[in-house]
Amino acid sequence: MISPRSKEAGRSRSHEIFRRATDVLVGGVNSPVRAFRAVGGEPIVVDRAAGARLWDADGNEYIDYVCSWGALILGHAHPKIVQAITEQARRGTSYGMPTELEVELALRIRKALPSCEKVRFVSSGTEATMSAVRLARAATGRDLIIKFEGCYHGHSDSFLSEAGSGLATLGIAACPGVPKALAELTLNAPYNDAAAAEKLFDLHRNKIAALIVEPVAANMGVVSPKPGFLQALRDLCTRNGALLIFDEVITGFRMCYGGAQTLFGITPDLTTLGKIIGGGLPVAAYGGRRDLMDRVAPLGPVYQAGTLSGNPLAMSAGIASFDLLAAPGFYESLEVRAKRFGEGIVAALGETGAPATAVRAGSLLTLFFSREPVTDYAGAKKCDTRRFAEFFRAMLDRGIFLAPSQFEALFVSAAHTDAEIDHTLAAFCESLATTS
Ligand SMILES: *Cc1c(COP(=O)(O)O)cnc(C)c1O
Repeated sequence: MISPRSKEAGRSRSHEIFRRATDVLVGGVNSPVRAFRAVGGEPIVVDRAAGARLWDADGNEYIDYVCSWGALILGHAHPKIVQAITEQARRGTSYGMPTELEVELALRIRKALPSCEKVRFVSSGTEATMSAVRLARAATGRDLIIKFEGCYHGHSDSFLSEAGSGLATLGIAACPGVPKALAELTLNAPYNDAAAAEKLFDLHRNKIAALIVEPVAANMGVVSPKPGFLQALRDLCTRNGALLIFDEVITGFRMCYGGAQTLFGITPDLTTLGKIIGGGLPVAAYGGRRDLMDRVAPLGPVYQAGTLSGNPLAMSAGIASFDLLAAPGFYESLEVRAKRFGEGIVAALGETGAPATAVRAGSLLTLFFSREPVTDYAGAKKCDTRRFAEFFRAMLDRGIFLAPSQFEALFVSAAHTDAEIDHTLAAFCESLATTS
């Protein structure tokens, strides 16, 4: 039995900091997914972290399954990454000029993802997807894009309709401030429904610049692509002269040393990366066919730039990460751990009879509070979010930190030990029992 902590008693310092935060920061946070709006209460205010553990400002310890929203596949403060950043910091933190580090990281990306013949580094996934779409529009001379309901591609104007992640959590179907004229250029289809995408192509013949998709959706909770779905999208794009963009900001280097494109054997025209490739520092990238990428400035007129792009601290963190990820057996052992976790959750569901379904894709996991399998956004939205909130709080009280939303993934990292996973599973059983 893991004795739950007395609820708010042990979080007084967090509470005091958060009170000051709400006065000066919007909602007390710098990214809405960090607020506990959907689960009630206040966010934990983090003091430090190491491996799979986080400590809040009151010194409470948590096993962390957010892992900076998936960026930390190696866990917090990995000594090799800390060393790389520290050494680089002594040599300067930003130059605004090229470094060899950028070449090194780009070469590692290209080797793992041959579809990325050329790469451009940016500082966030939002910038990567926004720039990839600009490039697709420029290359095709067309304006429309197709995306899928419940997928999240960052917060740029074109992607904020029927989007997953924080918009799903807050129930924002269409974001005010996006010009109507621009919103009309984004068409939505249900995830896993290639026929719906085909209809959009038929309806808007020769007008679709690109189709963008999370090859494994992880921003409405984890939803795997049905067999044949991604291939059908590839074929549709090829047939219609549109570009296929795989948004691998989460899936890149998550399930294998490469992307979902490596696993499923599909070659997109453009790929966006983020999260893991920066080893916990702000880096993202877009890349693709040479003839497409060569349209980007300075070689071509498609303008895109960034003061801190290819930042040397972030590049060194990325390189250090890649060297660890490339070690033989890294993904195999992560899979063993994630599988054990996934099977434990299924057993806990069986034991407690809780009305929920677990979905796992490698080290990405979601517990949907729905008895029916979730294959798209409509299905995800049917989940009992009140029950999720109760479960989330029961877990938090037992020292397990999950993403504070039904519509997010749990991220297992290489730093999570078997003992930590077993402890988490015990908490799962108890929390499910208290919430069903
Ligand atoms: C996180 C995410 C983004 C946005 O990345 P930011 O760095 O938060 O701007 C884009 N696409 C996917 C699939 C993501 O998960």
